[in-house]
Amino acid sequence: MDFAFDARTEELRARLLAFMDEYVHPAEAVAEEQRAALASPWDTPAVVEELKAEARRQGLWNLFLPDSEYGAGLTNLQYAPLAELTGRSPQLAPTALNCAAPDTGNMEVLTQFGDERQKKQWLEPLLAGEIRSAFAMTEPEVASSDATNITTRIERDGDEYVITGRKWYISGAMNPDCKIFIVMGKTDPDGEDIRRQQSMILVPRDTPGVTVKRAMRVFGYEDHYHGGHAEMIFDHARVPVTHLIGEEGGGFAIAQARLGPGRIHHCMRLIGMAERAIELMCRRAVSRDAFGKALGQQGVVHNWIADARVTVEQLRLLVLKTAWLMDTVGNRGAHTEIQSIKIATPRAVVDIIDRAIQLHGAGGVSQDFPLAELYAGARTLMIADGPDEVHQRSLARRELKKYL
Ligand SMILES: Cc1cc2nc3c(=O)[nH]c(=O)nc-3n(C[C@H](O)[C@H](O)[C@H](O)COP(=O)(O)OP(=O)(O)OC[C@H]3O[C@@H](n4cnc5c(N)ncnc54)[C@H](O)[C@@H]3O)c2cc1C
Repeated sequence: MDFAFDARTEELRARLLAFMDEYVHPAEAVAEEQRAALASPWDTPAVVEELKAEARRQGLWNLFLPDSEYGAGLTNLQYAPLAELTGRSPQLAPTALNCAAPDTGNMEVLTQFGDERQKKQWLEPLLAGEIRSAFAMTEPEVASSDATNITTRIERDGDEYVITGRKWYISGAMNPDCKIFIVMGKTDPDGEDIRRQQSMILVPRDTPGVTVKRAMRVFGYEDHYHGGHAEMIFDHARVPVTHLIGEEGGGFAIAQARLGPGRIHHCMRLIGMAERAIELMCRRAVSRDAFGKALGQQGVVHNWIADARVTVEQLRLLVLKTAWLMDTVGNRGAHTEIQSIKIATPRAVVDIIDRAIQLHGAGGVSQDFPLAELYAGARTLMIADGPDEVHQRSLARRELKKYL
């Protein structure tokens, strides 16, 4: 068993580390200042565009995309440690490298399932970082963790499809640069096969009948850097039939293909978030005294730090094993491991960030440290991209099957 990264990964890691230190971390405070002065909080601060230009110049661009025609052509195992580094600054780094969700998943869908016209019109500007995109599946009225519940209608009318429905928590949609939505709805709501009722369709932002209604909050945060999480109305929005992705009834299968890589990317970044929390915890522990000694000399703080380190090492090994399996036996073959890391990582990282918050006292929940926002981001990943219980249900059923 060889635990070393290969030469290309090491080389990219070194370059990305330098980019993070030289450009990304110093830009965190600048971006905050610039955002406060923007006409709309949903606009992109200038420093983010500068970071994108620099990352592109340095070849640190589209690293997430395994397709070498369109992206960097890295394997999951090569990309994993790079995504981890971007997790140390989740507001800026993924966007700077054009590796931020939900664009990454949408670019993967267009690469794999889009036709030449769709690629030209939407994939190319997304790959160039000129526009952003969103993925609209979840609906406020139904339990959307079960995709068969989706009620949005995609009805054919001559050469057009008519889309009607209400969605919410559509990440990225508040950003005016988000020009295209991939919408999941039903083309055949009465179809016998409940997994063939859904389709995916491209809906441009400026389509009449499309309304971005309001920004949903996450623990009170508006998540400006991620373009917010919008409630959206599609009221008889009409698009040409050529906007359908793949075939009618193919939406469920495309959603499954989209979510595998998306889930491992989240877990990689979560490990980077945990590393940032551990670093902050240690710096605080050695720089503040209470009751006559440094916080870091308290036994309980030793336990927190040691437990956090052990947990991160365990998670990283499992995530890397999953990445390796995805590369060698495919996403289907790595199903159990993908579900395992999606269950294990957010909850463990929430716990680590929680301890780091505790060690910072009031500062931990304040805006002067990134911990509260990291906590909110990690906690939502126990719900987004499939709640824990849904993954546990399917994983347990596969385990039980072995004994039936
Ligand atoms: C920050 C954030 C960003 C998001 N971004 C997007 C986005 O960009 N696009 C998009 O379409 N959606 C997005 N979502 C929505 C997310 O994918 C859904 O919230 C998720 O799929 C769950 O659906 P739901 O909210 O309807 O919960 P429900 O389906 O109503 O489930 C509620 C709860 O029921 C429990 N539950 C469900 N099924 C089972 C089961 N089988 N066994 C036991 N318990 C169960 C779980 O605890 C679950 O959390 C985002 C959500 C958040 C919080």
